Amino acid sequence: MTTSRESPGRRLMARIDEFAAFTDEPGKLTRLYLSDAHKRAVAQFIAWAQAIGLDARLDAAGNVVARYEGRDAGAPALLIGSHIDTVRDAGRYDGNLGALAALAVVEELAERGERLDVAVEIVAFGDEEGVRFPKTLTGSRALAGLIEEGALDQQDRDGVVMRDALQAFGGEPDRVGSERRQGIAGFVEVHIEQGPVLEAEGLPLGVVTAINGATRFDISVSGAAGHAGTVPMSLRRDALAAAAEMMLAIEARAGAEADLVATVGRIEAEPGAVNVIPGRVRFSLDVRAPRDEQRQRAVADIAATLGAIAAQRGVAVQLVKTHEAGAYVCDPNVVAGLTAAVEAVGAKPRLLPSGAGHDTMIMGQLCPAGMLFVRCKGGVSHNPLESITLEDCEIALAALTRFVRDFRA
Ligand SMILES: [Zn+2]
Repeated sequence: MTTSRESPGRRLMARIDEFAAFTDEPGKLTRLYLSDAHKRAVAQFIAWAQAIGLDARLDAAGNVVARYEGRDAGAPALLIGSHIDTVRDAGRYDGNLGALAALAVVEELAERGERLDVAVEIVAFGDEEGVRFPKTLTGSRALAGLIEEGALDQQDRDGVVMRDALQAFGGEPDRVGSERRQGIAGFVEVHIEQGPVLEAEGLPLGVVTAINGATRFDISVSGAAGHAGTVPMSLRRDALAAAAEMMLAIEARAGAEADLVATVGRIEAEPGAVNVIPGRVRFSLDVRAPRDEQRQRAVADIAATLGAIAAQRGVAVQLVKTHEAGAYVCDPNVVAGLTAAVEAVGAKPRLLPSGAGHDTMIMGQLCPAGMLFVRCKGGVSHNPLESITLEDCEIALAALTRFVRDFRA
């Protein structure tokens, strides 16, 4: 269905549409790690890569890897790609755009018979979303040699063990823990932004400076429950009113600093009756920032402020940390290279952090890594309404191609 007269971007958009047919749930796009749809998608991806003359294979963890040799065989490789698993009822661009854009870049090089100083390897990671099994990023972790002890013993909700699913898929569970790749000079991932910044500023492309680290807490506030009619305002120790003041303080603290975000996403009040003063409240807190130091400072400030509000209101507050993940600061040379590539194709490079996690943060522990963001409509992702324009697809592809051509190991 593709012809040589089509522009590379048009061909890529058509391929993304075609690829979206590989789904585990008819009528929507759901492609979980090691599922039947994943297997069919892998076969198609390998067929496309082989059609342009690449040596394409499934690695031990179920990632597709396809190598385009450089001028000298065995040269260090620049890895480009993204993931091809999806959330349930997903959009078609998250992950797939980056994996298929990588294929498109190499296709262009191959069609021109153009060889570079580096080899270019396409990667289509199998598990970024972490929907099927509890742990996530299995594909990139395997490549970077960062598979955690016991990861293969995880079970999905039907009780299927990852090791067995991977074996049936054609992977090599016994080699997954020792697959750390050698000879990798860099990694770059094209991905939809999944946020509204580029659209708001009227820009097609963003260069990611860092992938935000995150700290999460389970916070409880204990006051005194009492009769809503009989306890005067001055004698109350209302846990919910205290929590409300705390949330506004959290919002203000995050809002005072660029790139810092904090969210209270869940709240429960007890006893939860219309005529009872709340005695106890639990709420969640999620704090993210592109720099660990910035996030840690914000967390310390928030803890101190919450303590002060609690003391002033005569309630007790307790913060229990439930999750902590460090930020990944993208490699400065990769950031500079992507910035130059975006400028070279006539766009204004907007530097921005990524609020969501990506394979890049794992790959960054193996080699210099970075990301190129593409504007997406309404900042919407993880949703069938996810979309990008043909024009943005063209310019993203042109920028990635430029970056690859100019890349030096
Ligand atoms: Zn993604």
